[in-house]
Amino acid sequence: MRGYDEKIIDEIKSKNDLVSVISSYMPLEQRGRSFWGRCPFHHEKTPSFCVNGTDNFYYCFGCHKSGDVISFVMEIEGIDFSDAVKLLAQKAGITLPERGENDENVRRSKEKKEKLYAILKDAAHFYYNYLKSGDEAADKFLLYLGKRGVNGATVKKFGIGASPDFNALPAYLKRKGYAYEDMAEAGVVGEKNGRYYDALGGRLIIPVINQMNQVVAFCGRILEDKGFAKYVNTRETAVFSKGSTLFNINNLKKLKNEVGVKNAIMVEGHMDVVSLVAAGFENAVASMGTSLTKDQARLLKRYTDTVLISYDGDFAGQKAAVRGLEILKDEGLNVKVVTLPDGMDPDDVVQKQGKAAYEALLESAKPLIDFKLDVLKRTYDIGDTEGKRKFVAEAMKVVRESPAAAEREDLLKEIRSMTGITYESLKRDLENAEQPAPVKAEIAPIEAKEKNLQAERYVLASLLFSKKYAENFQLGEVRFTHPVHAEIYDYLAECKKEGKTPKPNVLYDIVEGEDRAELSAVLALELTERRDYDEARYFDDCVKTLKRGNLEREIETLTKLSESETDIERRKELVKRLMESVSALNRL
Ligand SMILES: [Zn+2]
Repeated sequence: MRGYDEKIIDEIKSKNDLVSVISSYMPLEQRGRSFWGRCPFHHEKTPSFCVNGTDNFYYCFGCHKSGDVISFVMEIEGIDFSDAVKLLAQKAGITLPERGENDENVRRSKEKKEKLYAILKDAAHFYYNYLKSGDEAADKFLLYLGKRGVNGATVKKFGIGASPDFNALPAYLKRKGYAYEDMAEAGVVGEKNGRYYDALGGRLIIPVINQMNQVVAFCGRILEDKGFAKYVNTRETAVFSKGSTLFNINNLKKLKNEVGVKNAIMVEGHMDVVSLVAAGFENAVASMGTSLTKDQARLLKRYTDTVLISYDGDFAGQKAAVRGLEILKDEGLNVKVVTLPDGMDPDDVVQKQGKAAYEALLESAKPLIDFKLDVLKRTYDIGDTEGKRKFVAEAMKVVRESPAAAEREDLLKEIRSMTGITYESLKRDLENAEQPAPVKAEIAPIEAKEKNLQAERYVLASLLFSKKYAENFQLGEVRFTHPVHAEIYDYLAECKKEGKTPKPNVLYDIVEGEDRAELSAVLALELTERRDYDEARYFDDCVKTLKRGNLEREIETLTKLSESETDIERRKELVKRLMESVSALNRL
């Protein structure tokens, strides 16, 4: 099973109780036989994420994601199958045997990545040790950090270091036994005319660590202005992609697990994060100097619901940021914008006005929508008729984005007080601009095919969950047409042959990729309460539906065959079978 023995996977699944594993990430509430919570994989207000603690699988009625304990950990941690297996084995105290990797490419790319991680980790140690070496140049970096309020504990927490020059790091890593090519692939050294040099030579070094506590890159800051870029990041590599990394996410995750996180503060630069953490704002994070991506929004959403945007206090920058913030909102994060005094960054506020002043600014952060109105107000000259007209047009667009009626009302009142236009007139504008709701397509009648599909699902679910009413059903009685159902059928047949009780969540090891959706649809039937009808009778009806479908298809085939058959004897035989099928159909 993807390089692991079936028994080990089985042990990992049985020793990691699904309900307790999921509970360690999110609250679950027991209702009847199942546990419910708000889905961690899509944004929702009311719980539709259901965990079956008896058969150990989950299913979301909203986004239809489903799986077992391994897929849950893969999804929520953003890691692959073998890392999830490792993590769960560790949790349950199971020692994993050496894997017989069957896929050579997978094995090689994994080995490569592990080598890059090792190089990055050793480089981080090298930089960290140099910063504390007592070297005159190193002390300059310490002095700079001290000025920004970054003390020994914070240096240690981030593993901050410094690069002495362009040669020391490659030489050190070479002595450690790494090849120059691998160092270059890890992004820590560059190459020019056959000479390898420290890509961040002479800079203050801040390691970028991912949510799995692995060093993936570095951010280098130059102290003296020598015409070089102030900040340089490690280039993108096999283990580092800017768009899916958030700086300090490792500490945010730790914070969440230890004391819980109310919100995260999103700032612009790595040094802003470091000095905010030094000042006691441990929940600060930063993107990697690019605009925010969907991946980053999802990553953040794993650890918090609310994000406070605390970008530098220059208006142009804030205005440009608004668009990036939509991405956060789209992923279901509650976005608020902190307004800083003009020309100041978060660090300036903390250093010059104190911790309490910054705290007060965080407290008064405005919802994204209010912030947008602010931006509009500062963009257009409301005193001028034309400016006012444009402002109102743009402001109404913002109002229409808001789904809540109460919020819309508040916004209209705000626009009224900004412009002096009456509330009624604004409301009329809003209503006139509303698009008529699209006419819902008529629900198509359930066709025979759909009915057959439902019946296949129900019969399979009843067999998988060993329902008493399905005890007398003979597996060979009906054929299953859907390819995923055929796989489930094969599994059931195997269980029957070996005299084992079926374990539904084993199917997550057999059915993968896009086929999971159909598997989910089958397993989800177990989660629906069905008190309103007689299960046994419904089961019999489904079996009948399937038999009817089987016979109808057989009759169709036999009819075609007998029509085209030229040999009289064989044709007689086909017609005889056809008549038998027809009478069997009539008996149903
Ligand atoms: Zn969901």
